[in-house]
Amino acid sequence: MSNELESLRERIEGINDEILALLQERGTIAKKIGEEKRKQGTQVYDPQREKEMLNHLIDNNEGPYNDNTIKQLFKEIFKASTDLQKSENEKHLYVSRKLKPEDTIVQFDNGAIIGNNKKSFVFGPCSVESQEQVDTVAKDLADRGEKFIRGGAFKPRTSPYDFQGLGEEGLKILKNTKDKYGLNVVSEIVNPSHFEMADEYLDVFQIGARNMQNFELLKEAGKTNKPILLKRGLSATIEEFIYAAEYIHSQGNSNIILCERGIRTYEKATRNTLDISAVPILKQGTHLPVMVDVTHSTGRKDIMLPCAKAALAVGADGVMAEVHPDPSVALSDAGQQMDLNEFDSFHKEIVQAAKLYEK
Ligand code: PEP
Ligand code: MN
Repeated sequence: MSNELESLRERIEGINDEILALLQERGTIAKKIGEEKRKQGTQVYDPQREKEMLNHLIDNNEGPYNDNTIKQLFKEIFKASTDLQKSENEKHLYVSRKLKPEDTIVQFDNGAIIGNNKKSFVFGPCSVESQEQVDTVAKDLADRGEKFIRGGAFKPRTSPYDFQGLGEEGLKILKNTKDKYGLNVVSEIVNPSHFEMADEYLDVFQIGARNMQNFELLKEAGKTNKPILLKRGLSATIEEFIYAAEYIHSQGNSNIILCERGIRTYEKATRNTLDISAVPILKQGTHLPVMVDVTHSTGRKDIMLPCAKAALAVGADGVMAEVHPDPSVALSDAGQQMDLNEFDSFHKEIVQAAKLYEK
């Protein structure tokens, strides 16, 4: 190596040490500022001050690094300092297991529980179509000792010409069924202004896949005091799913049940691709109960049972599936809802499988 190169490298290493020493000093001061801010009750992150500091640095930048590079480097330093100023609690999301190590358990008036090492099931028709239809399924479920029934009254359909659901009339049907059979009713809300009206009828507000990032809907859900069953978006990453749950939690509602319902991939053998790995990842990363919807993920009755068993085996707190008294005439998802016969064998097997995993 030439002497020149060696001495340049030595100078670079010396500068690295100086930068490190300055960063250490800067970090120590940033922490003190954080303590002062906490005493005064002011926000740790001050975007206006960051902007002023960046402008000042760019005004004084004489190269050779361009302004953008200087900006990026200092932004990293600012971010690291803001993180230093945050308390342990502020570093983590509300839904994070780091913040709350113990599992969230969602409890209901009729004694039902979701979470707490119990396996729970939410079955019922895709759409509420009539009182008789819902009651037929409800009777079957109640006879089996099930505690929940699902059914959509506001249906987010791909085509505007398809059945859109019975709306509030559908919720009334569900409430009548609840009063007759003592089941908790789960139904989707698609409009932020509907929670108040629906509160009278439902026990769990579902937020569907298509609305997972409807932030105004999430915020309103967070202001209610009913459990929210939040389904993963069609193309949502796990991180986006967790942030959607955080929207709800940050508004004060911590009763959230996550539901993996398959994501859109290139695979055509199933309606969506059931991302089974999402279950243990969500269980590790959050304290929320996680369910798996085997109907909308697979879209195939012939593989729903093994997929449901797989969900329980990887730690899901429960399974959702669609059941209809006469699927061939169903107004939505006719091809993938189980009839009561098919459901009988599905139910017997999944209840057996659940025993293997309940603690
Ligand atoms: C549903 O559960 O009724 C539904 C429409 O599912 P998803 O939002 O997961 O498509
Ligand atoms: Mn459906």
